[in-house]
Amino acid sequence: MTVQYQHTLRGPFEIEGVGIHTGAAARVRVEPAGTGEGVTFVLPGGERISALAENVTETARATVLGTGNASVSTVEHLLAALFGMGIDNASIAISGPEVPVADGSSAVFAEHIVRVGSVAQNELRRTFVPSHAQFFRDGDRALILLPAARFRVRYVADYAAPIGSQYFDAEIDPEVFRDTIAGARTFGYLHEVENLRKRGLAQGGSLDNAVVFGPDGPMQPLRWPDEPVRHKVLDLLGDLSLLGVRPQCEVIAIKSGHKLHCTATKELRRQIVRAVPSANVR
Ligand SMILES: [Zn+2]
Repeated sequence: MTVQYQHTLRGPFEIEGVGIHTGAAARVRVEPAGTGEGVTFVLPGGERISALAENVTETARATVLGTGNASVSTVEHLLAALFGMGIDNASIAISGPEVPVADGSSAVFAEHIVRVGSVAQNELRRTFVPSHAQFFRDGDRALILLPAARFRVRYVADYAAPIGSQYFDAEIDPEVFRDTIAGARTFGYLHEVENLRKRGLAQGGSLDNAVVFGPDGPMQPLRWPDEPVRHKVLDLLGDLSLLGVRPQCEVIAIKSGHKLHCTATKELRRQIVRAVPSANVR
């Protein structure tokens, strides 16, 4: 295996927009950070929240990080872009309660990361290498981690018509992430949209930032025929980034979502912190 150094951004980038669930506008500025700092959100009140599993406070529809009274919602697409593009350390200043949804994918974040570039830092990456198979289960959903030389994700999605069953399998590096995952958008069913709105969710959702499936198929052109499973992989990567270290293993996910991902990453974080106490120093 090649020796891998931590990476940060070569410079800052900014995006502005509304959150898909709250509809609230926010500006996000992503800046370089030092070795060992990991990814940290800096909220309008100055509170700092490390993007680590132990700081996850909610997983219904989106991943929410919080500490005390402060929280930041829908962090997973930005975190997926940083993780997928190989950025270990970054500081994210945000002016509102929710990360802007952009087009519902990680594409805009990934493009900014490519534009500003990344730089290797003078400290090795910390990795999580499971010594044995581990599994997490919630009803018919499962998340399995197997020892492997490289990071690989296999995801099995199984949805009601018209989405159906979809399967994704790839060793994931920045090129694979950028070309095959980053552009996959959030999706949902037409009949769900009204329910979400009633619950005060999806206030910022529209056909510009989510693929909506009606009874006969998608209401907008898809970017790939299997765009939904690619988005599920994107969400999984964002949630796995909350380990705070690079997983080096094969991940088999069956119908998993934020809730199961969070159960798994919280338990794995306990193992990581036990094995490498410095992983907790942030
Ligand atoms: Zn998502």
